[in-house]
Amino acid sequence: MRVLIVEDEPALAALLRDALARAGFALDVAHGVADAEASLRLATYDTLILDLGLADGDGLALLQALRRRGTSVPVLILTARDTPEDRARGLDLGADDYVVKPFHMDELVSRVRALLRRPNAALGVELRLGNLALHTPSRAVTVGCVAVALSAREASLLELLLRRHGRVVPRESIEENLYGFDSPTSPNAVEVLVHRLRRRLQDASATAAVHTIRGVGYMLAES
Ligand code: CA
Repeated sequence: MRVLIVEDEPALAALLRDALARAGFALDVAHGVADAEASLRLATYDTLILDLGLADGDGLALLQALRRRGTSVPVLILTARDTPEDRARGLDLGADDYVVKPFHMDELVSRVRALLRRPNAALGVELRLGNLALHTPSRAVTVGCVAVALSAREASLLELLLRRHGRVVPRESIEENLYGFDSPTSPNAVEVLVHRLRRRLQDASATAAVHTIRGVGYMLAES
């Protein structure tokens, strides 16, 4: 799940990035309106975290432009503007959630997860296929009743494949979702990761397996 953080305060952007990365999200940071527009042209995001007072413009204008274009990406406004009128304006312009600074990081991460559970993104807290289950808040993976230990990135890959199980997930889409623009990926990083996840699922006797669709990508399906 890929999140764009639009925040012009570098220290706060870094804190957000670290906390959301620990929760298993792939992050990109944009430092202003223009930067955010550029990122939105290049990539598809599952959620936007949007500061309002940005150096080169107002986050509300960006939100308004997005909604006018019919973009339905969930937007969480994160701002110091805290009057009821501010909140109402943000929500009326199409934000899905509104968090006032200062805020608790754990709560923010939970709110981002909650946004991803909503209908157009949505599949609930627990993702299941056959005897395999992934609890998205804790990222705990089980096969039957047995816990399977996965690295953070392996769990992210599994979540992505589970959300789209039975459909082919293109390799580039995996790369985009698991690594932001900045994280360097070796050419075969995705292959190596898929190989490791596949092995762990096999070793745990999962009834679902990761299939390679040559030249296109990967698909999680019951074997
Ligand atoms: Ca700001």
